[in-house]
Amino acid sequence: AKAAGGNRFQLADAEADERAITRHGLTTALPAALDRGEFFIEYQPLVHLGDGTVHGAEALVRWCHPQHGVLGPDRFIPLAEHTGLIVPLGRWVLEESVRQANFWQERHSDGGPLRINVNLSPTQLHHPRLVAETVDVLERSGLEPGALCLEVTESALIGADDDLLKPLRQLAEMGVDIALDDFGTGYSNLANLRRLPVSVLKLDRSFTRGMQQHPADPVDLKIVEGIVSLAHSLELAVTVEGVETGAQAEQLRRIGCDTAQGWYYARPGAPDRIQSLLLADAV
Ligand code: C2E
Ligand code: CA
Ligand code: CA
Ligand code: CA
Repeated sequence: AKAAGGNRFQLADAEADERAITRHGLTTALPAALDRGEFFIEYQPLVHLGDGTVHGAEALVRWCHPQHGVLGPDRFIPLAEHTGLIVPLGRWVLEESVRQANFWQERHSDGGPLRINVNLSPTQLHHPRLVAETVDVLERSGLEPGALCLEVTESALIGADDDLLKPLRQLAEMGVDIALDDFGTGYSNLANLRRLPVSVLKLDRSFTRGMQQHPADPVDLKIVEGIVSLAHSLELAVTVEGVETGAQAEQLRRIGCDTAQGWYYARPGAPDRIQSLLLADAV
């Protein structure tokens, strides 16, 4: 038993070492990866719960690593954030997804607004050229500011002072939507929401997870209902993440959520794979 325990420890140590080595390797490989074009973007549709029409798509970055294969953002965004590479990487994601959105918009059947959601990390939020660069990217692409939604996490805005909020306010005044991502996972004071230049709440997946049971947990339903009515009274739209079943979608629609995103509609995919979905009238 003792030997087995010892082995387990060695295994755990070895795994921890390997993870640290990989982390270090990935961190040092990041800048060259950006130069070599190893990053790519997958898009996931956002759907209006009311009528099933497509609202837009969220851009989600991936890294096609020559040795490790395709890595999800959870593997490298924290490293890029730590080293500051998130600034040029985030700029690339914005530029590329705005270009793609404009391409789709020009082909959209009814010419209606097809929106693009792009994640912003805390370091990008603090970057002095955020507003200037965003304006520049929009102008060069031809996409109107109202078609762009920048997603910032609730935790990035906790305790945010006016210096941090000013660039977001400027972007909001130009017509760019700001969404509060992962809402419900942080500790933000609900009353505080009025102070933030956000127009969309993205309810974290943990809420939809509680609604997967049959019947759904009545307490979870009440909580989501409360958040939705509060959000609407503040004139915020509500998007729900992680919708995996039709039953969830139906419940969220009845509660009054505005838009939804999740595997039930589509997994994130390459632009040409989901283009027909995005350009169709309804999912
Ligand atoms: P997020 O912004 O909360 O993105 C939603 C995540 O949920 C995505 O994971 C998406 O693939 C996943 N998802 C969507 N629908 C479902 C579903 O029905 N069920 C389940 N179980 N999962 C679903 P992903 O692509 O691994 O991204 C993880 C996180 O990485 C994102 O969370 C976001 O915070 C970050 N991220 C992704 N792209 C970027 C980027 O370009 N810049 C920055 N700063 N962060 C990014
Ligand atoms: Ca997001
Ligand atoms: Ca356009
Ligand atoms: Ca989220």
